[in-house]
Parts: sequence; C-alpha cells; structure tokens
Amino acid sequence: MAILIYAEHQNGKPNKTAKELASYASAFAARTGDQVIALGFGLTEPEELYRYGVHKVLNVEDPRFADFNARAYAEAFRQAADATGASLILTGQTADALYFTPLLAGLLQSAYVTQVIDLPESVEPFTVKRKAFSNKAIAHVVLKTPVKILNLAKNSFGLRENAVEGTVETFAPQVDDGVFEDIKRVKVEKASGKVPLSDAEIIVSGGRGLKGPENWGMIEELAEVLGAATACSKPVADMGWRPHSEHVGQTGKQVAPNLYIAIGISGAIQHLAGVNSSKNILVINIDPEAPFFKAADYGVVGDAFEVVPALIEKLKKFKLNS
Ligand SMILES: Cc1cc2nc3c(=O)[nH]c(=O)nc-3n(C[C@H](O)[C@H](O)[C@H](O)COP(=O)(O)OP(=O)(O)OC[C@H]3O[C@@H](n4cnc5c(N)ncnc54)[C@H](O)[C@@H]3O)c2cc1C
Repeated sequence: MAILIYAEHQNGKPNKTAKELASYASAFAARTGDQVIALGFGLTEPEELYRYGVHKVLNVEDPRFADFNARAYAEAFRQAADATGASLILTGQTADALYFTPLLAGLLQSAYVTQVIDLPESVEPFTVKRKAFSNKAIAHVVLKTPVKILNLAKNSFGLRENAVEGTVETFAPQVDDGVFEDIKRVKVEKASGKVPLSDAEIIVSGGRGLKGPENWGMIEELAEVLGAATACSKPVADMGWRPHSEHVGQTGKQVAPNLYIAIGISGAIQHLAGVNSSKNILVINIDPEAPFFKAADYGVVGDAFEVVPALIEKLKKFKLNS
C-alpha cells in the first residue's frame, strides 16, 4: 500500500509544507510499512524529498499544469491514487491544497479531515486528532472509507529527516483540455514581505497601537534583523496601512511560527484564532490589561515606540558579537 502526498513547490523546489507532509507520511509508514509517494507538478528538485522519507516522486511535466487548476489537480491526484493504490492521501494547509482537496475527496468518495495535528491515534479504527473551535478544542475523528484524506495543520508535525533512496518518475495524467479552459490565471501579485508569511519561523506583527503606516519602519527593521515575516491585525489592513496579504486571524491567514511577536495588538479573540498555534508568543503592549498577555509566553508592558527600537539595537549588537 502507499501514502500519497502533495509535493507543492516554490520555483521547482519542494516547499516546507511538502517536506512536513513527507516527514509525517514517513513516520506513519514506519508503523504501517507503506511506501511514501509524492505527486508534484513541475518539480525541478524532486530529489530533495528523499531526505524526508519519500520513496518515489511522481512528477507531472505537462505544461498545462504549470498554473494551478483545482479540477485538473484533483483529477491528477485521483489518477495517481488509482495508479499507486494509495489508501492515505496527505495535503497541507495551503491555499491551493485547501481548494482542490475537497474536490478530490468527492472524486474518490473519501473521508476527508482538515486541521489534523498529529499522527493517527489508531489505524483500526483509523482515528486522528484535529483542531476544533478556532484551536480551543481537539476533536478525535474516525475515518471509515477505504481511501482516506488528511489535511495537516501547518507546523503541527515539523520537519523530520529520514533519508531513503528514492526514484523519480514522470506522471502523465489524462485530463481534457476543456478543464484547463474554465479558469485562467491572468495576473500574479506577489506579497511585499521578503519572507513568505506561510513559511515563516518568526513573525513580527503590528496592530493599531502603532498609530499609522508611517511607523512600520521599525516593524520591518525588527523583522529584517530576525529574518522574520511581517504581519498585522485586521483593522490595520482594513485601513490600508498594510496589504491584506499580511492580515492574520479568523478572517485572515492562520499562522503557526516558532515565534509570533505581537506589537500594539490587543489580542481580540478573532486575532488569536489565527495565531494561537504559534509555538511561542511575545506580546509588547502598553496596557498591562491587554487580553493578549493571557495568551503570551513572554510579555513586555511598555510603549512600542521605546521597546522596539531598543530591542532592534540589542539584537543588532548580539548578532555582531556572535
Ligand atoms: C467577524 C470578525 C472577524 C474578525 N477577524 C479578525 C481577524 O481575522 N484578525 C484580526 O486581527 N481582527 C479581526 N477582527 C477584529 C478584532 O475583533 C479586533 O477589533 C482587532 O483584532 C483589533 O485590532 P488591534 O489589536 O490592532 O487594535 P486595537 O484593539 O485598537 O488594539 C490596539 C492595542 O495597541 C495597544 N497600544 C496602543 N498604543 C501602544 C503603544 N504605544 N505601544 C504598545 N501598545 C500600544 C493598546 O493597548 C491596544 O491593546 C474581527 C472582528 C470580527 C467582528
């Protein structure tokens, strides 16, 4: 039997989500003896996945698949699942995967669970844990169909190396041209941040406490010193101080970095819903009663306009001396 994962990539290299899925599949395969197979579209460095336990990479080289197309990707996965006899399919919490995976579940008539946070608790019955109620609870879910699909919550498993010898094969799904005609990508606008929010290990996030867009220089500088991505609260994006691509929370991006630094953000429940899977949270807020402190691992009560420049200076000195 096989576990099939989605090998999403950036410029041809498998991204962090693909490696995390491979790590998860490899750890589970150690229990079941399954082969780990990755399906990617236009990978140029598929071999990178061997390091995370992938035995075989199926690479779609058909140029029609170069632009993401949910129906075409779902159909390609259906055919790959049939060809490999996969009983478990894993996708990650990315925009593309969250779009095509439900279609795939429909095509395969498979049970599909999102926000999965750990390896299956048992194989028979096949039971997994998933986040529920904006991360405030955990649901234990049983999947009963022969082919099961899990969508893994970001950063919930981490990267675990387990190098194996692998192979790469070209995979040529049979998909009608008409499917590609339905939707055409006309323009791509890249997010402004240097580090993509979705892959960031550290995020520096600013809220309305920063008073205006002219004060974002210190947020960007702190992010640069830390090699971090920048983010913001919803009102900040709504007021046009920052692009909407940076808005995190219930109605924005869900993030799970190793360190989330919240500066001048009150910690409303809708904001916390998007960040409370972060491994560590540092809150900088002038108000000691700000609700965010309840969710914080580390807190600084102080004026961001004093604390942040001082922090940047300290970090720069630390980097110079280390
Ligand atoms: C349906 C719905 C969905 C929503 N979805 C989201 C979402 O996805 N994401 C989101 O963020 N919000 C969301 N909201 C809005 C949310 O309820 C809050 O209004 C919002 O998060 C507040 O943003 P803020 O913390 O930046 O601003 P504020 O609530 O105004 O907080 C500003 C904070 O800055 C602090 N501060 C002020 N001056 C300083 C200073 N000099 N130094 C340090 N700290 C200072 C203040 O003490 C305060 O805590 C949603 C609301 C609704 C109703």
